[in-house]
This record gives sequence, structure tokens and C-alpha cells, in this order.
Amino acid sequence: MTYREIFERREADALSPLASRAAETRGRARREPESDVRTAFQRDIDRITHSKSFRRLVHKTQVFLKPEGDHYRTRMTHTLEVSRVARTISRALGLNEDLTEAIAIGHDLGHAPFGHAGERALNEIMSASGGFAHNEQSLRVVDRVEKDGAGLNLTFEVRDGIRNHPHTETPATLEGAAVSLSDRLAYLNHDADDAIRAGIFTEEEVPGEISCALGGTGSERIDTLVRDIIEESYGKSELSVSPKLKMAFDAFYEFLRGRLYTNPRAKSEEAKVYGILNGIYAYYAGNPSLLPPEFSLIAREDGAARAVCDYVAGMTDGYALRTYERLFVPSVWRE
Ligand code: MG
Repeated sequence: MTYREIFERREADALSPLASRAAETRGRARREPESDVRTAFQRDIDRITHSKSFRRLVHKTQVFLKPEGDHYRTRMTHTLEVSRVARTISRALGLNEDLTEAIAIGHDLGHAPFGHAGERALNEIMSASGGFAHNEQSLRVVDRVEKDGAGLNLTFEVRDGIRNHPHTETPATLEGAAVSLSDRLAYLNHDADDAIRAGIFTEEEVPGEISCALGGTGSERIDTLVRDIIEESYGKSELSVSPKLKMAFDAFYEFLRGRLYTNPRAKSEEAKVYGILNGIYAYYAGNPSLLPPEFSLIAREDGAARAVCDYVAGMTDGYALRTYERLFVPSVWRE
């Protein structure tokens, strides 16, 4: 018996009947021999962790554009916080923690530079060629962009969870649902924490209906919501926040939408984002032969517009700024 078979047997014995088991995966687009050591989902965790797109999350905006302070979240720290919350929920519910982790660490791989401002800009730029949405791009990254157009050949369950992580979608597995809820739970709390750090509002300004129901600090709120989701969802074929806390959870989102996501001070640089991404996009769309060679297969098979979009979407905030400067800002003449 291989190590993988031992792990698969443990999953069969220990996990909830509602969990997704690696041995029962709906498989990969291209068939591959199984690993002797790792289950299919463990293997997907490793493929994502070792990808270039994953490493670039360190340098991508969460909410604050290119923050100078050391303690603001980036896409990477957001991703790790989502993974921790989702795994805690998964473990308590007897779901597959490996599948949960793979979905969590892959869910935001498709985020454009400059966060949702970059996403909105690319969606507008691509409006005549299919648009742009970060969750669809995350799937494109693992299916197509990584490995020079070959993709990572992940399992169906991981791909589905990545594609369907926004709360408006319905993932096929409960592990996917755990990531979807944890994404919202994590970003509301860490974005509030970052906004307080930036002086956009104070903890005391968080409305009483939210702090009374969920708690007065980030860690209290996460703890309250995680316990609530576990108790509400145990043994059920759906994951949810209880009706008791749902109102406060939604009110928390509305509060952040009003005070942070549309705050002119936090968002004052967003108009410039469109100019930068549109400039870079137009330059490469006019000169597709100048794209890095790893995009040539994608350009041939999916068209130049989509290949340029993939290239721009993959840029970190800093790389996009440097590229714009190289292309459009005259360099200083030094003797
Ligand atoms: Mg996310």
C-alpha cells in the first residue's frame, strides 16, 4: 500500500459523508499517473504554491494601493488568512482540509494589479472581447497562463472552487463553500483592521449593531462568525451564517462599503489606475510580438487581446508602474 492509499483510506474512514474525497475526484483534464506520496488535492496545493502567480500575490494590492506600511494586508496575506479560516471550518465540519487549502490558496491568483480598481479597469478595456473578472481569471491562470500556456492541470474540484469563490456563485463542493464564506469573513475583518490602522475610521465608529452581535475586535468577530458557521452548518449540505448573525454580517459589509471601499481618501488614486493599465494594454495590443515568449502559445490560440490581458492581469502593482514608466515616461538624460 502506498502512502497516498493510506491517506485515501483515512479520508474514507474519518471525513464526513458530505466531504469530497481525493480518491473520488472527478479528475484532471489531462490524465496523469497518481503520486505515491500525495493525494490528488495535496498535489494541487503544491502545484499552486510553486507557481509564479502565487509568488506574485506578495506584491499585489488588497485594498490599499501599494501601501508603504509593513502591516497592511497584501493579496498574499489575505490568501493565507482565508486559508486558515476555511481550514478551521472545514476541519470542524469533517470536510476535506486539503481540498479547502488548495481552493483557498488559488482563489485570488487572477487578481489584477491595484486590486478591484485594476479589475474594473481591465473589464472596461476588455469590454468588446469578453470582459474581465478576477475569479474567471483565477481559473484561467491555473488552466492556461501558468506553464507557458499549458496550465497546472488541477482537479475538477479545485478548479470549480476557484472559479466559484465569489458569494454570488455556487461551488459544487462544501469545501468550495467554506472558502467562499471565509473569503468574505476574512476580508471584512482585515480590511477593517487596515482601515483603522490607516486612520480612516476608529474601532469605536463601527456601529453598535455590528460590535454587539459579532464582537468589538477583529479576533472576536472572526471567532464569533467561525463558531456560528460551524454550529449552523454541521451535518448540513449547505454552509451558512445563522439568521441571527446574518444581519450584522451584512451590515458590516455595508459599513465598509460606505466608509472604506468607496472612501475618496483610500480610493483617490483609482482614476490613475485605468490610465496606467489602459496605456500598457494598448501598447502591447498594438505590438503583440513584444509580449514575453511565454505568452506566444496563448496569443496564437486565444488571440492577442486575451494574451495581452493575461500579461497585464498577472503584473504586480510595482511591475505595472515600472512598465508604464519604461514605455511612456522619458528617462532623465545623464551625462
Ligand atoms: Mg479573496
